[in-house]
Amino acid sequence: MENSFLSSQDTVDLFRQYVVPNYGRYSVNLVRGEGSYIWDAEGNKYLDLFPGWGCNLLGHCPEPIVKAVQKQVETLIHVPNSWHLESQGRWAQLLSERSFGGQAFFCNSGAEANEAAIKLARLHHGPSRYKIITFEGGFHGRSLATTTATAQPKYHEGLGPLVAGFNYAPYGDLNAVKELIDDETCAIMIEPIQGEGGVRIPPEGFLQGLRQLANEHDLLLIFDEVQTGCGRTGQWFGYQYFDVTPDVLTLAKSLCGGIAGGAMLTTTEIAPSLRPGMHAATFGGNPIASAAGIATLEMIEQENLLENVSVLAELFASSFNQLQQQCQWIREARVAGMMVGIELEVEGASVVQKCLDRNLLINCTQGNVIRLLPAMNLTTEQASEGIEILSDVLRNLQA
Ligand SMILES: *Cc1c(COP(=O)(O)O)cnc(C)c1O
Repeated sequence: MENSFLSSQDTVDLFRQYVVPNYGRYSVNLVRGEGSYIWDAEGNKYLDLFPGWGCNLLGHCPEPIVKAVQKQVETLIHVPNSWHLESQGRWAQLLSERSFGGQAFFCNSGAEANEAAIKLARLHHGPSRYKIITFEGGFHGRSLATTTATAQPKYHEGLGPLVAGFNYAPYGDLNAVKELIDDETCAIMIEPIQGEGGVRIPPEGFLQGLRQLANEHDLLLIFDEVQTGCGRTGQWFGYQYFDVTPDVLTLAKSLCGGIAGGAMLTTTEIAPSLRPGMHAATFGGNPIASAAGIATLEMIEQENLLENVSVLAELFASSFNQLQQQCQWIREARVAGMMVGIELEVEGASVVQKCLDRNLLINCTQGNVIRLLPAMNLTTEQASEGIEILSDVLRNLQA
């Protein structure tokens, strides 16, 4: 079967000629996935602890999602948002019941969900209040507004002029936020746990402090949960993990079990500010995404995956904390549900390559943070297998 695929080298050549070179890519043609395993064109099997860059929170090709999508594409592939679609309404209901009881706007990606949140915040507070406070090291997407919201200079180079009205505060610094708030501020936007920024967990009381500031100054508190949402932390949403409720919540990545989909949730009081005609996404909440989104929530429930996250998180935390004590070149191990960040004193690229050589897929972000975003339905045996390989590679790192 593997023989029918183009070799990895031929695929690389195809890309070199025809695909815009805006990504750093490994020279591997991945062809098939099942759960936390994935195979390349040469038939090599990998354990994937970073499935789908956070999108495949249920592993590769989860059966309930496959079935729901197969059934849907045979019935209805797309209808525009000028009509009512039962499954979109049902999906919104399921999300509402598991979050703060509000309403949903659907789109296709994290950047789009955050764009919707940014527009909503500006519309909600009228033309004189347009400024949004975001955080250094954050990541909110690649559209021009969400790139601007992303307070990392390396992503801004050469793109100016950027969108006006974004103010940046150091992550974890409440006083800096306080000082940035003025009469023109309409919102604070933050990832409850910074993902791309290095799995950075907020200091105790920080999110509560933001909630309080938002209340005092009548600002919308926007949580970008594109990475922390949909069960990643062992709670349905990251805000529940910290017990701080935002006014606006954005979701994508794992929302539809690996199918493209995004959403913005907000309260029924705030939602009407996104007036008819002010925002749209042609494919948002389409029948396939809706079917997959519903199946995702149902699978998490039926297979008790939120509980599994807590069990696995403890295993990752104890293993990597122990390792950290043995290796002076490991600065810190941070675990929040199925988000693992291992901060090194040295560059992490060689760790990723050495793991790849041993058929383990992981990620490195910010140059020196090894990042895992494992599937919720990873087994303890698979987790142990991955921990063993990664620990061995880290132990043998020359500091
Ligand atoms: C990945 C990510 C985004 C961007 O999502 P896209 O679907 O790539 O547009 C935004 N915010 C966070 C926190 C993310 O992790």
